[in-house]
Amino acid sequence: MPAAFPDFRLGTVLATSFTGTLSERHGDAVERIPVPHRLVDWLAVNGLAVDSCTPAQLDLARELRESIHAAATAAALQDALPASAVHVINERSAQGRAAAILTPEGTRHWQLGAASCVADALGVIAADAIGIIAGERDGKLALCASPTCRAAFFDTSRSRTRKWCDMNTCGNRQKKARFHASQRKNPDPAE
Ligand SMILES: [Zn+2]
Repeated sequence: MPAAFPDFRLGTVLATSFTGTLSERHGDAVERIPVPHRLVDWLAVNGLAVDSCTPAQLDLARELRESIHAAATAAALQDALPASAVHVINERSAQGRAAAILTPEGTRHWQLGAASCVADALGVIAADAIGIIAGERDGKLALCASPTCRAAFFDTSRSRTRKWCDMNTCGNRQKKARFHASQRKNPDPAE
């Protein structure tokens, strides 16, 4: 894999993992699917393998991503959902024709159509977003506490008190920053 492209942040929730392909939206934003073949790579990692992707399909994917981000952010803040974002999510969901397939091992596999694979994959992602925004799944939408991130994530912790979109990135960075700040201000090791 060429080192020129940023790594993916992988989560367990498809829709918010997808919105995480643009990170640090309130800082130095990192675009993790800058070219069509990186969207192909991301989809493959997430069980939605497609043969190819055109620049126009990448644009549709990014439009969906930002719509999910906007709608999930509004839901986390208990604001009204932005109508344009809802429209895009619904369009992508309606145009997808993926079928859920039960494997002999008892796991779910998405079978994408032959003709319009990317559209089908985006349909799966849109439907996933609808599920979490509609409150159908066990968890709560929240916003990352990192001021440069503010990513919407799906908190499935029992106490629903998760602060960061990702412990390995935002969580760690905030912890380190707080630790260094407390070291400077206070010689006592404060937690
Ligand atoms: Zn974050």
